[in-house]
Amino acid sequence: MTRAIVVGSGPNGLACAAALATEGVDVTVLEAEETIGGGTRTSELTVPGVLHDECSAVHPMASGSPFFKALGLERYGLEWSWPEIDLAHPLDDGTAGVMLRSIDETATGLGAAKAGSMGQVTSASEELSPELKNLIGTLHKGDLSPPAQAADGYLVFLCEDRQDTPQRTLADIRPQVMAAAQDQKRQRLFADWLDEREKKAAVKVASFYGQWNRERGAVN
Ligand SMILES: Cc1cc2nc3c(=O)[nH]c(=O)nc-3n(C[C@H](O)[C@H](O)[C@H](O)COP(=O)(O)OP(=O)(O)OC[C@H]3O[C@@H](n4cnc5c(N)ncnc54)[C@H](O)[C@@H]3O)c2cc1C
Repeated sequence: MTRAIVVGSGPNGLACAAALATEGVDVTVLEAEETIGGGTRTSELTVPGVLHDECSAVHPMASGSPFFKALGLERYGLEWSWPEIDLAHPLDDGTAGVMLRSIDETATGLGAAKAGSMGQVTSASEELSPELKNLIGTLHKGDLSPPAQAADGYLVFLCEDRQDTPQRTLADIRPQVMAAAQDQKRQRLFADWLDEREKKAAVKVASFYGQWNRERGAVN
């Protein structure tokens, strides 16, 4: 092949054209718009001097692309712009989580100073809401939880270790079951004994108090 026509001058069309040209093919690129670039165009859409990305604006993979490096586009004026803040996510309380190029600075901004080990958390821990305890309960050793909303912001939990309560067998709890059964039996025997005593009693205790209350005017 000595001649090729590429339709469209977006990043893919231009990459294709450049690859063919480096192989010695005579390439013609056809573009319907007045300027080249497709989705990567940057234009003065509003006022002079203010540049707008018409479509794509962030190209994190491009700076590391072996293909881009091989083209040596810096010779033609390519410069990568590195934003101060790569990404920001507004939060309900008016603050924002921001992602910086430094992992340490990003962690600091996300409140790493306030982070730390919670020590052992159990289902009885009172410092956590039921929702957070449920979330923690789903984690296994080494798991990182998704961000969870807490009273003073968002929390991410790393499960360093997990100790599940061992299942107890019937033999383990036999003494407690026996003690509870004996206690129930004792209470039933006492109630039966009391019933018998009341049936045989000469004095009706309830009637006595009813009469006494009526006499002192407490009951009509
Ligand atoms: C809103 C938006 C935001 C985006 N943001 C990002 C981002 O931040 N980062 C990122 O990596 N990607 C982003 N993308 C994706 C990126 O823009 C596309 O993946 C990329 O532009 C695709 O390149 P392409 O060459 O295949 O097509 P295009 O870029 O669409 O280029 C096609 C070109 O072909 C021309 N053309 C079409 N038909 C003809 C014809 N018949 N004759 C002549 N010319 C023709 C068009 O005019 C155009 O110039 C975004 C896309 C959109 C829509």
